[in-house]
Amino acid sequence: MRDPPRFKNVLLDLSGTLHVGDKVVSGAISAVSLLKRCGCKVLFLTNTSKTSRARLLAQLRKIGFDEECIVEQDIMTSVIAARNFLMDRNLKAYCLTEEAVMEDLTEVDGGDMSDSSRGAVLVGLAPTALRYDRMNAAFRVLVDEKVESELVAIHTSKYFRDGDGMLSLGPGPFVKALEDASGKEAHVVGKPSPTFFEAALSELGCSAGDCVMIGDDIVGDVGGANAVGISTVLVRTGKFLPKDEDNKEIKATCVMDSIVEAVDWIVGEEYDTENEETILKEMDGGEGGNEAPMSPREEKMVKEIQALRSQLKEMGGEPRELFPAEEKVGGEGESGDSKDEKDEGTGTGDKEEGGVTEATEAMEATEEASKGPETHQDEPKSKV
Ligand SMILES: [Mg+2]
Repeated sequence: MRDPPRFKNVLLDLSGTLHVGDKVVSGAISAVSLLKRCGCKVLFLTNTSKTSRARLLAQLRKIGFDEECIVEQDIMTSVIAARNFLMDRNLKAYCLTEEAVMEDLTEVDGGDMSDSSRGAVLVGLAPTALRYDRMNAAFRVLVDEKVESELVAIHTSKYFRDGDGMLSLGPGPFVKALEDASGKEAHVVGKPSPTFFEAALSELGCSAGDCVMIGDDIVGDVGGANAVGISTVLVRTGKFLPKDEDNKEIKATCVMDSIVEAVDWIVGEEYDTENEETILKEMDGGEGGNEAPMSPREEKMVKEIQALRSQLKEMGGEPRELFPAEEKVGGEGESGDSKDEKDEGTGTGDKEEGGVTEATEAMEATEEASKGPETHQDEPKSKV
């Protein structure tokens, strides 16, 4: 009988934690499956504001996350949080957002705001909308003396790592510009806003003490979750930098190399990514498990057969026909042939890599703010 998981409810960041651009973090798909098979409720939290939830899910499907891993209603985006924020206050918004995200904002889209008596300006990452004429129109909504308008930011990341590997401007500086010009302070609805995490707890129907957040962002994921009493795991993937572990103000409950170790800690399972299929079979009560080692007699037989096979090859014979039983006894000994087959894409890792080549460029530009230039997955493991 396995022990119950350390936490029954898990909040998972997407970009940088489950995938980096269009590359799946090694073992991430199996790790999410393991959480669910252990009975954990999982909610995915993302600050992505350049694409709708449905389109984000489609991109995740392309890189290998199937419906057993992630379904649409389990993804909580900051765009959906913004929509809920505006609907709760009966506000229509002038939206400085990408067209691709508008399908999540139909209920709150105020168009050009010419007919609204009370409204808001909503700002997300919007490379095609954050230009002077649109910014100026937003400014005029905010300072119009005939209406009472509020400034709402989907999030305020200053920059993010773009699909070309370079840093690009996030929505934060544009929000600052509108705050400065209008004199109005923005409501921030995405991570690390406490309301975002409180909404997540409400969605899961649990208390903060029975929930853990796993993410790569020391501020957005760890700081935000800490603020409402949720335990946290900072992973050394995505935007993580070694200096994040020395942050004086924000401390994660644990710092671990990746989502795989974090899940291992939560479910209390020795979790070896190279042997994950075996572990999953064992959890099902199946036939999994390491094969028993060969006895000395079996080892001797294999060596003798291999020697005979070599001799027959030199003589031009056909060893497979003479020793059909060899296929079963010594199959692992001939790693050269089987490796060639694996290299065609039969392994789990190959499958993930094959999937990512088809991913869209939009996936690379998932825009959670990057705090630095590089991923560090080789740091020694430690817990704090
Ligand atoms: Mg992240």
